[in-house]
Amino acid sequence: MTNAGRDEILVLVERTAQGDVAASAAEVIGAAAGIGTPVALVVTAPGAPGEPARVAAELGAARVLLAEHPGAATGLGVAEVDALAAAVDAVRPGAVLVPHSVDGRDAAGAVAVRRGLALAVDAVGVSRGADGVIAHHSVYGGAYDVDSTVTTGPLVVTLRHGAVDARAEPRPLVLERLEVTPSGRRAARVDGVEPVGAASGRPALQGADRVVAGGRGLGSKEQFAVVEELADELGAAVGASRAAVDAGYVPHAYQVGQTGAVVAPQLYVALGISGAVQHRAGMQTARTIVAVNKDPDAPIFDIADFGVVGDVFTVVPQLVARLRERRG
Ligand code: FAD
Repeated sequence: MTNAGRDEILVLVERTAQGDVAASAAEVIGAAAGIGTPVALVVTAPGAPGEPARVAAELGAARVLLAEHPGAATGLGVAEVDALAAAVDAVRPGAVLVPHSVDGRDAAGAVAVRRGLALAVDAVGVSRGADGVIAHHSVYGGAYDVDSTVTTGPLVVTLRHGAVDARAEPRPLVLERLEVTPSGRRAARVDGVEPVGAASGRPALQGADRVVAGGRGLGSKEQFAVVEELADELGAAVGASRAAVDAGYVPHAYQVGQTGAVVAPQLYVALGISGAVQHRAGMQTARTIVAVNKDPDAPIFDIADFGVVGDVFTVVPQLVARLRERRG
């Protein structure tokens, strides 16, 4: 079966733990609109409010498939996989786009296995070629650009959050109910959710527009406050290198890189970070990279758009003061 010419692109609309449409939905629907006609899949518990379907149409979905599944409220991912598999059968799309979140990766992998489809993970963009949809990846810390595609079946693609700027035009809601037979597969049950970092009042690292990150160069947990001060001035999320996490300056949830969060913000400020390849793997696709490091040969300067060779404790307070002045 080849789906190369099929125009409709199936998109999984991810929801937050509170049931709202996740920020990734605008990007995934925007990416789908660039290569075809977005068909959004919204998975809810039976009788849940229809608000997410309306949001999906506002974000540009030409059709919204509403799948009611008893496992949607508490089951870990099985409802999404059951619904995605049913939607693939019903739509026969040109491709399936899913956010590259922890849950999205799970769902994408599982549906690819269930339907025998190829999976392309952590794409930073998608386009169309002669054989169908092509996924674009930035790998090895951004050192190589790689394209992947398949000649049979729709490609299942997970899209990196923050990597796609395109947004689709709003559309009127065209709602269709999708019949889904629960597979009855076993799932862990979620009894409660407590968002990490909500207490700080800062944006979440994943999906943030701006990130200020600190490394071992900050020297101590107390001195890491310099990073937080600049982040708050810019309305940015706080990130860190693994060395800063290992040294106990901040919790692991802040780590950016190969074994941490992969971010693609508009602005990434790296303070006292050398720029090891494992760190770059998590931030290299940021639109603008600013680095402050006292070593002029630090590898971070190879990828920085703006670099300051200097001591963070001299440079950052001046930067914060100037930003405050400009704000008045
Ligand atoms: P360093 O390399 O020690 O650099 C500190 C920098 O601060 C130096 O460049 C120094 O010049 C500068 N500096 C010092 N004082 C100042 C000052 N006062 N003002 C300005 N600059 C100053 N790393 C990650 O970050 N994320 C990952 O996900 C990750 N995963 C890994 C996975 C594996 C399998 C392995 C092997 C490693 C991984 N690492 C990861 C670790 C990575 O290799 C580096 O060790 C780490 O990124 C270094 O962190 P750093 O830049 O903060 O520290």
